[in-house]
Formats: sequence, structure tokens, C-alpha cells
Amino acid sequence: MHMKSKTTVEKSPEGLMETRTIAKTMKVAEISGPGADFRIVDREIPRPDAGHVLIKVQACGVCHSDAFTKDGGWPGIQYPRVPGHEIAGIIDELGAGVSEWRKGQRVGVGWHGGHDNTCLSCRRGDFRNCSNLKIPGISYDGGYQQYMVAPAEALAAIPESLSDMDAAPLLCAGITTFNALRHSDALPGDLVAVQGIGGLGHLGIQFASRFGYKVAAVGRGSENAALAKKLGSSVYIDSKATNAAEALQKLGGARVILATAPSSKAMSALFDGLSPNGKLMVIGAAFEPIEVTPVQLITGSRTIQGWAAGTPTDSEDTLRFAELTGVRPMIETYPLEKAAEAYARMLSGDAQFRVVITM
Ligand SMILES: [Zn+2]
Ligand SMILES: [Zn+2]
Repeated sequence: MHMKSKTTVEKSPEGLMETRTIAKTMKVAEISGPGADFRIVDREIPRPDAGHVLIKVQACGVCHSDAFTKDGGWPGIQYPRVPGHEIAGIIDELGAGVSEWRKGQRVGVGWHGGHDNTCLSCRRGDFRNCSNLKIPGISYDGGYQQYMVAPAEALAAIPESLSDMDAAPLLCAGITTFNALRHSDALPGDLVAVQGIGGLGHLGIQFASRFGYKVAAVGRGSENAALAKKLGSSVYIDSKATNAAEALQKLGGARVILATAPSSKAMSALFDGLSPNGKLMVIGAAFEPIEVTPVQLITGSRTIQGWAAGTPTDSEDTLRFAELTGVRPMIETYPLEKAAEAYARMLSGDAQFRVVITM
């Protein structure tokens, strides 16, 4: 009996169908409604629709933006919902019409979880700003589960030498810092300040130094000074002990300040550290206004810009650059069963520095 069924499987063009029929259910960490606690449930493994793939999730980063799903802060979320948009995994099944990816391929999905190809931004090729952008964990179930379905256009290939646990945080925190910096107009040799040494900042410092900038890390307190240097900054400025904007001016002024810590007050205080034509590049998502006077902007023609993540091809650029230059996230890992603990750890702000759920 056993031999016979084995022969059948080997002859099948589907290859690993047998595995699929054995593992029908999966563990999922879901949120049942706005503000609800995580609960671990069994669900049937979904099948991918046309244009989609089924991913066997290996690791999923925990991002502060998962709070949109946990607390219901994003309009139109349907519950129960599985959070997670820093997904690294393996393609388990291809939906109809997906020809550019293959089963067994390692892929990631980040914040950019799909676009419609039809809105004005997409027609202009600006997929990043698609007005119907889909976000994993918000628009559809994300990576806090053993298997997930994603649209093929959301996939990014993961380079062989990057582990799943390292790749996952690079798909949101990584791409955001990498992409913001490479579109910031700073040139090699320019002074670039990275405000905040946390989940975003510790990656921002690494990317900025590999881009050839002179990096000034700006943190509160002295405890991260040694780490900031190790990550690639040549200067550390303790904003608690000194006026950080003045300290930057003493160094000639920053061409770019990458503002990663979600403190509008700290960003406002740092603005005068910019050089002429300098840019405050904002990626730390806070809800309070940044306070800058028109005179501060006009003097030296300085600007403020925001930046959000990037497309799956930007993710691939990020991953390849990290592979090439040794940029890696510092992570703490938790098993899927402890998703609630992992999320609480991220919220505490004490994690060093990104929390990653492993399957
Ligand atoms: Zn994120
Ligand atoms: Zn669009």
C-alpha cells in the first residue's frame, strides 16, 4: 500500500502534492476585532487564486505599523485579520497564470502588498503611490501565520545568502531607510545625520555609512554611542546632553537628516542642524505636527520630505545591497505561539532592535 502510493506521487507532475494533502491546517495568530488580544487558531491552508501564490512563511517581522491592525486604526479593515508585513518564506503553490515565479523559490513580501495597475499613479509607473495599494496584514491576512496568500506583483526574491530572519525586517524597516536615503540627494562624502537609534535607525546608520556618507548618529543618552559607531557612524551626538542642531552645524551642517524616531518635537529641534539645501527626510510616523517656521525653510532653501517604503523591486534592491555590503538587522526572535509577547516586546521600545516571529 505504502509503496504503491509512493510510486503514484513520484509519477505525479505536481511533485509535492502529497505534502499538501497531509498538512491541511495551519497555525494562525489573528486579531478578532479592533483592540482584541492575539489568539492562536487553526485554519485551513488557503489555496492561491489566479495571479496569487501560496507562501510557506518562515519568518515575519513585527513592525510598529502592525498596531493599525491590532487597534483598528486603519479604515476598512475586516476582522478577523492576521497582521504582518515583513514576510520571508518559500513559494508553496502557484495560482493560475503565475509564470514568473516557481515553486520552492524564496520570496519576501513587505508593506507594498499589491497594486491595481489601473489608477493614475500606476498608469504613470508610480506603483509605490498606488491609490489602491494593498498592504499585507491590513488589506489581506499577513505573515503571522504558517501559510499566506499574496498577489504575485507583491513578491521580492530573497538572495541565497540572506537568512529568512535577516531578510524579514529588511522588507519594511530596511527598505524604508534604504530607499529614503538613496532618494535623498545626499552624495558620497556628505554629512548625513540619522536621528534615533532603534528599529529603523540602526539600519539607517548601516545603509548611510555603506553609501559613503559621513554619518552622525543622534540619540537620546549615551548608552547607544558605542553601538552607533560599530554600526558605521563616525560621530555620535547625545541630544540629551547637547544641542544636537548646533553640534551638526559645528560639523558643517547635515545635507540630510533621516528622522527615524517618531518624535515630532525631536525632529523640530533638529531642523536647524541642516546645511543649505539640506533636507529633513521623515520616516518615523508620528501624529503630532513638526514645527518649522517659513523663515527656517527659506533660509538656505531647506526642505522637509516624507518617505514610505517602496515597491517589491525596491525590496530586491535593498536585499541585494544588504547581501553585498553586510548590512544586517539586529533581531530578537519569538515563535508564532508567542505572537502576543513578540508584539508587546516591540511596543515596549526595549527590543534590540527588530522583533521577528519564526514559524
Ligand atoms: Zn512596517
Ligand atoms: Zn494603482
